[in-house]
Amino acid sequence: MGWKIFFSFSFILFVIFLLIFYWFVPFKTADFGTMSGDSNFSLNNFELENMQFYPNMRFPNSEISYQIDDCTLQKEDDMERAFEIISNISFLNFYPVNYNEEISITCDSKNKIEGGMFIAGEGGPTNITKTDKFNVILHGKILLIRESKCENPNVAIHELLHVLGFDHSNNKNNIMYNISKCGQTIGSDMIELINKLYSFPSYPDLSFENVSAFIHGRYLDANISIRNNGLKDSENTKIMIYADGKFVEEIDLERLEIGYGRTIILRNIWVSKMDVHELEFFIDSNFNELEKNNNRIILNVKN
Ligand SMILES: [Zn+2]
Repeated sequence: MGWKIFFSFSFILFVIFLLIFYWFVPFKTADFGTMSGDSNFSLNNFELENMQFYPNMRFPNSEISYQIDDCTLQKEDDMERAFEIISNISFLNFYPVNYNEEISITCDSKNKIEGGMFIAGEGGPTNITKTDKFNVILHGKILLIRESKCENPNVAIHELLHVLGFDHSNNKNNIMYNISKCGQTIGSDMIELINKLYSFPSYPDLSFENVSAFIHGRYLDANISIRNNGLKDSENTKIMIYADGKFVEEIDLERLEIGYGRTIILRNIWVSKMDVHELEFFIDSNFNELEKNNNRIILNVKN
């Protein structure tokens, strides 16, 4: 045992220390900035005349459930005929359920006077979730007060169209005019809009809302926000991160309800690649989505 061995041992230790220092200790930083999600979805300006309370209002599915409670046989019949008439001329279908219905229909035997005006009924969406594509109606309510004296159940149809998101019309001959008359008809523009809105399948749509990233030395920091802008809850999936095409990290993303989002904060994720120029974030869903373009975001190093 001499000094020689001691020195060579120290030297080896020193080299190992330098290597560790080189691999793990931050010595260079790279800012990838922030980027917002991009959408190629062509749904804007469906509506030219603001027929609906908010743009692009629809239920998640074209099959819509309902329940009728405390109504006379005549009013129940009015309501069912209204469902039949709308389903005959549009993509929509309605089916009765005993609980968890999307449209709740109730009746009141007493006539309702409001502001000196006789109110035949009331209806409208009661739960709306806004996404970047639709105002998704999750629940609606109809209070049917007056039985229809017309050949068609005009009051029930009027209230059903309110639940589907339609506002009053200024046209006296339109069924959506605020005073009900027997000769009024359902505007074909309303049916056209319904069919356009429901031509999109009831799929989830996971998308990046915002991603920012920063690399210091060999470590990645990132903030990722994701939202479900679809018409259905998403299933479990994964987010993949690549640096210049090389795998960096895989993150589990749990089910997201319609309109719900999640922010993921990553700190000190080891990046094996040196001198990264491009970071890729990818939602690796294996289910159908309204749009897949918004599942990928690429960040480039600044300057
Ligand atoms: Zn009305």
